[in-house]
Amino acid sequence: MNADSDAAARKRPARRQTVKAPGNRCLRVILSEPEMRRAVLRRDRALDGRFFIAITTTRIYCKPSCPSRRARPEHVRFYATRDEAERAGFRACKRCTPQLASGEAEDALLARVHAAVDAAPDRASLASVSAQLGTKPETLRRRVRRAAGVPWTVLVRRRRVLHAATLLVTTDAPVVDVARAAGFRSLSTFYAAFRRAKGVPPAAYRKSGGSLHA
Ligand SMILES: [Zn+2]
Repeated sequence: MNADSDAAARKRPARRQTVKAPGNRCLRVILSEPEMRRAVLRRDRALDGRFFIAITTTRIYCKPSCPSRRARPEHVRFYATRDEAERAGFRACKRCTPQLASGEAEDALLARVHAAVDAAPDRASLASVSAQLGTKPETLRRRVRRAAGVPWTVLVRRRRVLHAATLLVTTDAPVVDVARAAGFRSLSTFYAAFRRAKGVPPAAYRKSGGSLHA
C-alpha cells in the first residue's frame, strides 16, 4: 500500500461492514474499510466472497483476489454482496468471475446450474450454462467438480434423469419422447442412465407412480 492510499484510507471513517459468512453458519465477519483495502492490495483469496470491490471508472466489480491492476483508492467502492454491487450498476469482472466467488455458498452455484439445466435439459451444455452464468466453461467445470464432487457430465446426467422421472409420473408422454425432452440423444443411453440412478427401468418407475426409487 502506498502512502497516499494509506492516508486516504485513514481519512475515511472506518465504516464497519457486517458481512455474512458463506454457508448456513451464523458466523459474522466484520471488516473495516482499511481492512478491506489491505485485503485487496494483497489479493487475499481467503476473503473472496466475503466482500466485493467495485471500480467506478470501469463499472466492474471484482473479488478481492482479482489479478487485474489495482484501481486508485478513490475509484473503489466496497459491497458486502454481489447483489448490492449489481444493483448499484456494476457488472461482474470477466477475469475473476466474482459471481462464482469461492466464499459464496457452493449450494448457490449448484442451484444456479441446476436451474439452468432444468430450464432446457435437451440443450444445456457446459458452453451454454457458463455463458448464462457469465463465466468461462473451464471455470464452471472446475467449480462444479469441487461443489458437487462429480464431473460436469455426471451432474447433468443426474438432472436429466430427475427431469425424465418427473415427466414419467406427471405426463402420459411415450418414453421415447420423455428421453428426448430430458436431453438424451439415444434411448439406450437413457435406459442405462435411468436404471443406474433409479434402480428400475422407466416403465416400471412410471407404473409405480414414482414410488420406486433407489
Ligand atoms: Zn476482477
